[in-house]
Amino acid sequence: VIEIRGLSKKFGKNVVLDNIDLVIHEGDVVAIIGPSGTGKSTLLRSINLLEKPEKGTIKINDQEIDLTTRSAREKLELRKNTEMVFQQFNLFKNRTALENVMEGLMVVKKLKKSEARSIAEKHLQKVGMGDRLSHYPRHLSGGQQQRVAIARALAMDPKLLLMDEPTSALDPELVSEVLITIKKAAQEGNTILLVTHEMNFVRNVANRIIFLENGKIVADGTPKEIFDNPKNQRLKEFLVKIH
Ligand code: ATP
Ligand code: MG
Repeated sequence: VIEIRGLSKKFGKNVVLDNIDLVIHEGDVVAIIGPSGTGKSTLLRSINLLEKPEKGTIKINDQEIDLTTRSAREKLELRKNTEMVFQQFNLFKNRTALENVMEGLMVVKKLKKSEARSIAEKHLQKVGMGDRLSHYPRHLSGGQQQRVAIARALAMDPKLLLMDEPTSALDPELVSEVLITIKKAAQEGNTILLVTHEMNFVRNVANRIIFLENGKIVADGTPKEIFDNPKNQRLKEFLVKIH
């Protein structure tokens, strides 16, 4: 179980996350939906320490870490357990697909090069990139780059995989190959917290949906509860707008 408690984040006077509590069970695929500017990215970024919240804790691997920690050891511990996939892929441009995946295994996990290579190859094969190991990002399509980014994240064997609109930067014809890759990762039991506007995907793959608005979790339920029987008025209005 991963427990996030009391997560609060402001930018100046703008309260972006307002005392968020979120418990995620192992193997959960939790989709965060909500209007633009409502704090979805900030939530993921705070969990991965890319933002510094004012307040909040996360319990992961039975270890509680303060999200405001200054301790390098605690930061490393949290980063080892969470991996993030970004909208813009964020691959290392001067490294090949294989080197991109090996990097964290060697630097963060301190694996030997030969071990890192074999784990990286395995994960690149899984996302269908086994024949592109020595390609640089600029020689890969957006969908291929994102699959490398997913392989890079999964190779670290994170307790929690964070994904922020992983298909939003892709040309329409490349979206499905990435969604299939994420679906596979979900079916293999990875615990995933993702922000996406792909509502069909959410309905089919997520087992839980969170509707975030103005920094608060306004609704939290199964796809059926959220899409077929929304109780909250704000959620109803949002669903009407996106359809
Ligand atoms: P979108 O759907 O458009 O991606 P979002 O739900 O991911 O939106 P966030 O990016 O988390 O929203 O932003 C939440 C709020 O915080 C917005 O009002 C945004 O302007 C503000 N914000 C985000 N990052 C910063 C920053 N670095 N400095 C100041 N304000 C910020
Ligand atoms: Mg965002």
